[in-house]
Amino acid sequence: MSKARIGLVGLGVMGANLALNIAENGFPIAVYNRTTSHTDDFMADAGALADQLTPCHEVETLCASLTTPRAIIIMVQAGAPVDSVIDSLKPYLEKGDMIIDAGNANFHDTRRREAALKEEGLNFIGMGVSGGEEGARHGPAIMVGGDPASFEVIRDIIEAISAKYQDSPCADHLGTDGAGHFVKTVHNGIEYADMQMIAEVYGILRDMDGRSAGDIGKLFEEWNAGPLASYLVEISAHVLQASDPISGGPMVDMIVDKAGQKGTGRWTAIEALTLGESPMTIEAAVGARGWSAAKEAREAGEKIYAGLEVQGGAHAILDADLEQALLAAKIIAYSQGFALLDAASKEYDWNLDLGRCAEVWRAGCIIRSSMLDEMASAARAGLPNGQLIFADGFAEKMKDASGALRRVVAAAALKGQPMPAFSAALAFFDTMRKGRGTTDLVQAQRDFFGAHGFDRVDGKDHHHGPWGSGLKSF
Ligand code: NAP
Repeated sequence: MSKARIGLVGLGVMGANLALNIAENGFPIAVYNRTTSHTDDFMADAGALADQLTPCHEVETLCASLTTPRAIIIMVQAGAPVDSVIDSLKPYLEKGDMIIDAGNANFHDTRRREAALKEEGLNFIGMGVSGGEEGARHGPAIMVGGDPASFEVIRDIIEAISAKYQDSPCADHLGTDGAGHFVKTVHNGIEYADMQMIAEVYGILRDMDGRSAGDIGKLFEEWNAGPLASYLVEISAHVLQASDPISGGPMVDMIVDKAGQKGTGRWTAIEALTLGESPMTIEAAVGARGWSAAKEAREAGEKIYAGLEVQGGAHAILDADLEQALLAAKIIAYSQGFALLDAASKEYDWNLDLGRCAEVWRAGCIIRSSMLDEMASAARAGLPNGQLIFADGFAEKMKDASGALRRVVAAAALKGQPMPAFSAALAFFDTMRKGRGTTDLVQAQRDFFGAHGFDRVDGKDHHHGPWGSGLKSF
């Protein structure tokens, strides 16, 4: 029997679809899953593609079924399962073989695994894949890290299975070691912010304007034909118009408003803070999911603090303002995401091409949108002071749309409508357009209690204040 060009471990949602995508693109692939019945079920459903697939019930058979040097994709849950699969494969691999982790790994794990496997003569690639089940089957966006020479061995497969933007593959090698998984992590962080912002707009329309889910869905559908055109606005329009088969009412009205925030969104916030960055829109979105989980507390709070919103006074929010506000907030989220990528690139010496990252996101992935091509061009030209909001084209958009963002946040605040991501976006925007902030006082406070010193605006060599003593303590 002829040998397969590539192997895949983990026939869950993503692995099974990725394997079919690889097979459909004409690459013979050997597959293995821990629960062997899942492998059999997968083969039974593979139809005509079964000819390209070699099912294996043991990792040893999987490794023996591959051409050398071997290339094996792992698509299992991130964390310990990846280490366990790597350990199970190692006895059957030879020097020069390659393992590709295509799950949502923490990039620190990717760096550790690559370094450890290198010592044993094995190549390791961390590869972020976005697009969910549908993307995995028909074309995901693929963010590759690791050794560039290793990627060249599988480039033809990865490009073939990826989404295409005007014939250009949405897949590339973006930097060494953990770069691919880091870019995927930040992609997911932006995804968190984008989803949260759309949900905040939905909240205004539902709670302040009393509109039905279906009507909001129709409005989103209209917006999806304009500058907000994106996968997330499109699916939001779709899900808001779906009916619950049991009650007959809107499906979304029957869904408990609690979400988790494990994994990539949280990692984005953690890594950002470690790098001295604060992508507040992403942090707000992670935090909002955390707050959502405290449902019992929120229900108690609703009783204690009922009726505190300002009566009258707030202007009506126009649909056009909401659309513009969402656009402005979204640009700010991307600005923060790119700044974070840049900071990590410098810290880990990845030499990330931000333009290429944005290009890879133009199709196939969850955050794909009509704005990404323009963002890619702006990033290619170099982001002034590292911020998309200062780039040509985007600065003009922000000037046009930031008034709407301000009006929406102000009206929502008066009416007690929470907008964590929108508020964070506005706070960042206003901070970034103020040359002299208020940290002079923070520095004075620090010098007072800790003699930390400060820099003077006149550059003179005198770094402590004349604070004296004699304060009244309380
Ligand atoms: P899934 O449907 O839950 O499948 C998990 C797979 O991992 C199964 O094949 C399972 O095998 C295998 N597995 C789990 N623990 C294992 C272990 N200790 N040893 C060997 N195999 C093990 O998961 P998924 O949604 O495909 O996600 C896989 C990866 O892709 C994750 O890192 C996820 O974060 C990432 N991802 C998911 C999406 C998405 O939309 N779902 C999108 C992008 C990335 P058994 O059948 O034996 O349990």
